Amino acid sequence: MPYQNILVAVDLGSTTETVAGRASALAKQNGATLHVLHVIEPLAITYGQAKEQLDRLCESLDVPDSRQHLVTGRPEAEIPTQAKAIDCDLIVVGTHARWGLALLLGSTTDGVVHSAECDVLAVKVDAAT
Ligand code: AMP
Repeated sequence: MPYQNILVAVDLGSTTETVAGRASALAKQNGATLHVLHVIEPLAITYGQAKEQLDRLCESLDVPDSRQHLVTGRPEAEIPTQAKAIDCDLIVVGTHARWGLALLLGSTTDGVVHSAECDVLAVKVDAAT
């Protein structure tokens, strides 16, 4: 069965375009609705900056305001929570190679896979980006 409601989580960093582009293509192939989420972490960039970047990204993806989600909290907790709230059947996140301490600490993607009640697609992004 094709996916109907896809949520892409973006950190607004350099890999955002790759992850969002993959999610957008998948949404088109499945005839699915695409939602875009950014979670503002404490001490991170301000709401205004994040909103501006998210607006620009959503405009390029043809995603209306009603499907933009900007919340505050911890990404690994908020991504599954928001996905459930908007009844998504697929979450798309990025993932890159990790080693050393990062392996021990885990990643956002690991946390999302652990908590999500729906499928999760981890898009491989270049470790250097
Ligand atoms: P990281 O574990 O920080 O390398 O992040 C892996 C992936 O988790 C990113 O590519 C995004 O898809 C997602 N992610 C991380 N931080 C955030 C955030 N603040 N808001 C939304 N998604 C995020």
